[in-house]
Amino acid sequence: MKVSLIPEKCIACGLCQTYSKIFDYHDDGIVKFTDSQALVKTIDNQDHDTLKAVKACPTKALTIL
Ligand code: SF4
Repeated sequence: MKVSLIPEKCIACGLCQTYSKIFDYHDDGIVKFTDSQALVKTIDNQDHDTLKAVKACPTKALTIL
């Protein structure tokens, strides 16, 4: 499964990283992946923490592809 970031929708609330460390932030607080500058990342289907982060994002800046 893949997670996609939509940085234009991110409001820099910081919530996603509290669920999953695959998320990090640029200096302005906008979401990025911790280990990549890409906007799409393949994750393990069993990565429930990341799935929780996607569901918790208040602006739908994180999506599952
Ligand atoms: S939870 Fe959503 S809005 Fe908040 S920092 Fe993460 S991507 Fe941005």
